[in-house]
Amino acid sequence: MAVVGGGMVGTAIACAFAQREFSVVLLEAREPVLSWDADSYDLRVSAITRASQQMLRNLGVWQVMEDDRVTAYQHMHVWDRAGFGEIHFDAADLAEPDLGHIVENRVIVRALWRALDSAGVTVLAPAVITGLNSTEAGVTLGMADGRELRAGLVVGADGARSQVRELAGIKSRSEPYDQHAVVATVRAEKGNQATAWQRFMSAGPLALLPLEKDLFSIVWSTSPNEAEQLCALPTDEFDSRLTGASESRLGRLSLRGARAAFPLSLQHARRYVQPGLALVGDAAHVIHPLAGQGVNLGFLDAGALLDALLAGRERGRAPGALATLRVYERSRKGHNTATQMAMDGFKHLFSNDSAVLSVVRNLGLATAGRLTPMRRMFERVALGRGLELPTISRPPR
Ligand SMILES: Cc1cc2nc3c(=O)[nH]c(=O)nc-3n(C[C@H](O)[C@H](O)[C@H](O)COP(=O)(O)OP(=O)(O)OC[C@H]3O[C@@H](n4cnc5c(N)ncnc54)[C@H](O)[C@@H]3O)c2cc1C
Repeated sequence: MAVVGGGMVGTAIACAFAQREFSVVLLEAREPVLSWDADSYDLRVSAITRASQQMLRNLGVWQVMEDDRVTAYQHMHVWDRAGFGEIHFDAADLAEPDLGHIVENRVIVRALWRALDSAGVTVLAPAVITGLNSTEAGVTLGMADGRELRAGLVVGADGARSQVRELAGIKSRSEPYDQHAVVATVRAEKGNQATAWQRFMSAGPLALLPLEKDLFSIVWSTSPNEAEQLCALPTDEFDSRLTGASESRLGRLSLRGARAAFPLSLQHARRYVQPGLALVGDAAHVIHPLAGQGVNLGFLDAGALLDALLAGRERGRAPGALATLRVYERSRKGHNTATQMAMDGFKHLFSNDSAVLSVVRNLGLATAGRLTPMRRMFERVALGRGLELPTISRPPR
């Protein structure tokens, strides 16, 4: 099989399939940067759920990531700008060691990229595809260097602007949010307190995700204009704006290094599969980052595709058989849609200035703080629990 895209999801799929005796070629447009100054931090981080952690452990890379740099968090605190709606989650209440981990994206990519070799994956990078013809019997990929590559299945793991999706003629629903996310690493006067913080404001949520000691990675979603301003502000003014936005709950916050802004959008492919082809991760769905679910959904796609293909192989089906691929699509599309809609709902509920919604919002948060079942639902999301997990996302028996 050919996996196009060597980001977090594509490399995870390539490793998982190769470890189960599938012959895998990975095509990546850009070779990733695999070495960096130990004092620097990636601006892009991911909140990794328990299910994703387990999948990475089963792939044999979690320990490598732990030895590199991951940060467990035991608490999560969410509050609204008006100040009287608050929820606090605590791992101890659940008899869990933590609620999840914050990991720099490059740490995940490096661990998986290095595992490709021992898994026996053939890597072509940089590689550019120019054409695609997929049928149940097999796929032909045209390459920019004139070569043709044949495979039983092509997996499009090439991100939000997926070329595989485009070449396959699969349409996707795409709605830009009126928000950009400003990301940066900041130092907090009061330390990280092993807590992930999120404050909802009218222009968008501000998330503070704990890194080592007193450091946080921030994801500040706001209007495109404000995002541009925030990125251009002198450092001390940025620090003051950020400290104010966090209501000084962590003391003064000070910028450490660069800032960047990403446009946010909601996107969903009309279908994930066609004969000989499957889309996974951001190539299939892009969601608002407010609950840090994007890559976690992609990892669940990876596991579900693996389960479907292993079952298909047992029945003697070709990897590109539509009946097999539909099993994958059925197991993931509903859950991805529900998560996307929930995040979309949150985004609109919390970004609205209407007085009625403000009351609903605050009642909602204040009530959620008290109601055990609702708290449990939030905690299950943080822990990646509460749904039928693919085999690779479960602890070994
Ligand atoms: C600000 C922000 C914060 C986020 N925070 C979180 C979080 O806390 N938790 C979480 O779960 N998710 C988070 N997400 C979402 C998460 O980053 C994405 O869901 C995730 O990166 C998707 O991984 P992917 O491998 O599917 O795609 P990508 O990371 O986009 O990787 C795609 C890969 O394909 C390669 N490629 C592209 N085109 C081609 C081509 N034609 N040929 C070959 N290769 C190609 C690219 O170079 C890249 O390596 C966040 C997103 C944003 C914007």
